Amino acid sequence: MARQFEEKKFEGLAGLQLGSTIAARQLKYALLLALFLGFVILTIRGYQDYNWLNSVFQQSKQRIISSSTPIARQVLLRGDEELADVLARGILNNRSISCVNLTNADGTFTFERKRRAGEIPTSRWAETMFGGIHTVSIAVHDMRGNSIVTIGEMVIDFNPQVYVNAYMSRLAWSFLATMVLAVVMAICFAGVSYFVFSRPVIRLGNYIVNSDPTDESRPLMMPPEHRHDDEVQLLGSVTVGLFGMIRRQLVELRKTRDELQDANINLEKRVEQRTRELNIAMRKLEVLASTDPLTELPNRRAYLGRLDDAILVWRRRQTPVSIILLDIDRFKALNDTYGHQAGDAVLVAFADILKDALRSIDLPARIGGEEFAVLLPGEELEGAMILAERLRQGIEKASIAYGDTKLSFTASFGVAGLPSAEALKDLDPDIAKEFERLRGTDRADISGILYSLADQALYTAKETGRNRCKLADFKTVTEFKDMFPFNA
Ligand code: GH3
Ligand code: MG
Ligand code: MG
Repeated sequence: MARQFEEKKFEGLAGLQLGSTIAARQLKYALLLALFLGFVILTIRGYQDYNWLNSVFQQSKQRIISSSTPIARQVLLRGDEELADVLARGILNNRSISCVNLTNADGTFTFERKRRAGEIPTSRWAETMFGGIHTVSIAVHDMRGNSIVTIGEMVIDFNPQVYVNAYMSRLAWSFLATMVLAVVMAICFAGVSYFVFSRPVIRLGNYIVNSDPTDESRPLMMPPEHRHDDEVQLLGSVTVGLFGMIRRQLVELRKTRDELQDANINLEKRVEQRTRELNIAMRKLEVLASTDPLTELPNRRAYLGRLDDAILVWRRRQTPVSIILLDIDRFKALNDTYGHQAGDAVLVAFADILKDALRSIDLPARIGGEEFAVLLPGEELEGAMILAERLRQGIEKASIAYGDTKLSFTASFGVAGLPSAEALKDLDPDIAKEFERLRGTDRADISGILYSLADQALYTAKETGRNRCKLADFKTVTEFKDMFPFNA
């Protein structure tokens, strides 16, 4: 599994390995720290080395003095220059000595030997660290009887330059060694840090970015193998735990979403169903609102609506329209004699006669108790009168069985209409003029006038003996002027 993570590296994490890891940062800081520590160590070492070399210098001085004094005594006693030369050469073998001078007490013998000028030049460091050239003069004594006598003087110049050189060289090597060690250690620590911390964290990072807890089709991947029971291990466990939690929440969420979608679909279906039912109910209601329940004929409201439409057509194109008002004769008496139910049966039979006798474009309607009306769109008065007469005869002949009795009935008819342009020519010019004016007036006014004309005719039919048809008296149109100001 671990290999799998390394193969599918996330681009963002790949960049990490090139120097932005914690290990790289650690290397940088370790190097800086090593440099600092190197300097501290160097300072301590330098101080210790200085003290040590200084003591070596002092001891060397003492040793040379103590070892050369007896020979110097012989040189001065004998005044032997050869011996003096041997002594001087021996002393000058020591590179820290630059000059030897021997002088006897009375000044009759002097010997001096110097190192060649510039062979070992004294640097500023020698001045600062060891105080420059040390000139030591040693009094040379001899025993005369029981007393000690000074027989001369030996002067030696000590040059500390060799100790400076040794010191510098030691310091340089020590610095180099410290630095190399520090750098090696820093690299080692950074390497260990990379393997112990950075690499496991990078692998964990790869695992996190490559895991998709939302993909339910695949089982949850386990974090990369980590051998130690440490923070990285803990982080891996916490991550996989979190992924599990995310997945569980997601499953819940998806379930809820599906349920919600189902509920939505159901709701939409129910709303659709309800809307359908509502539309049906509304259509039923419309039919109910415009239909008479007993006879199933259109009612007054529906009738007036259709009459309005027909009047509109007459006003625009002078297409004729006629209406017939019908009222059953002495219906009250029939009701009183045979009962209300018999009356209802007559009303139904009456309506059926109308339905059967009329064309499909004609509109029979029940506009009151036993009052009916027929709208005849496109029909001139003449045709309307003929139809009314036919209806009257049909009704007169008809009868219905009610129990043992046969019920027959008659009706009176009032006919009125709005004539076409041609029909107007046959009318009285004054009346024709009034109709012309009427065309320019309000639809409701025309409807009212037409209805009144028919009603007047019906009244006349009743007055003149019932069971007859009467045409409206158009001469009375002018009478409506006050009622409907159509010539305004
Ligand atoms: P006329 O010849 O002058 O029209 O006399 P009429 O008796 O027919 O007239 P009237 O207006 O005096 O009486 C109408 C009667 O119609 C009164 C009422 O009881 C009856 N009627 C109205 N609506 C209904 C109905 O729906 N069913 C029944 N059975 N009778 C009704
Ligand atoms: Mg009536
Ligand atoms: Mg009546």
